[in-house]
Amino acid sequence: MTIAGTCPRCLGPLRPPDLWSSQYRCDEHGEVSPYRTAVSSREQALRSLSTSSTVPVWLPEPMPVHWYVSGIGWAGDDRTGPRANALALAGPCPLGGPAEMILVAEAPGVGLGAQLAGLAGPDPEALPGASEAKVEAAGHPTAMWPVAVRPDRAAFVGEARGVWLWLVLWPADAALILLEHLVLRNVRDAPEIGERSFFGAVSEHLTVASPTGR
Ligand SMILES: [Zn+2]
Repeated sequence: MTIAGTCPRCLGPLRPPDLWSSQYRCDEHGEVSPYRTAVSSREQALRSLSTSSTVPVWLPEPMPVHWYVSGIGWAGDDRTGPRANALALAGPCPLGGPAEMILVAEAPGVGLGAQLAGLAGPDPEALPGASEAKVEAAGHPTAMWPVAVRPDRAAFVGEARGVWLWLVLWPADAALILLEHLVLRNVRDAPEIGERSFFGAVSEHLTVASPTGR
């Protein structure tokens, strides 16, 4: 079961396709790929994404110690298939307390990563200066650029497998987890990673709209 589709750029309501438009539309953002999150069966949603997604579905392998999957969202319609996905993970912050991390893979123009980071989007502006972090994605060292966001979170963006890879972390200190060697694997290439994932308490950050701007 999933919630009704919302706008990936503002999480606001959408108008369904009608006589005048074949696509879902947001009053503010025009034609968009409807965004949904899995509610009752996140395991099944992950399995389904691993076969239907048109972009990578990233999961850390190994998962940081005591971290688990806390939510799954995706954007796309029946015509396009999922063009963006967001995997929420939760676990202990390196400095203590709980932390959350959302991994987003998305085709340009969808705007889900920017919304979760709290940016106007849909795509990152020119990546400034040097990258600050590196993850390994599908066996490739992948540079991640920090983006300026609200002080309650940290966000990084890079490119992997030809599409955007966003990492958004709460609280901002949780970015320290990137100092550890974070290895991401594409569940589309290795469905067994999804099958052995542990799911826990549901993420709020996937469904609560971020005010954009700083
Ligand atoms: Zn919108």
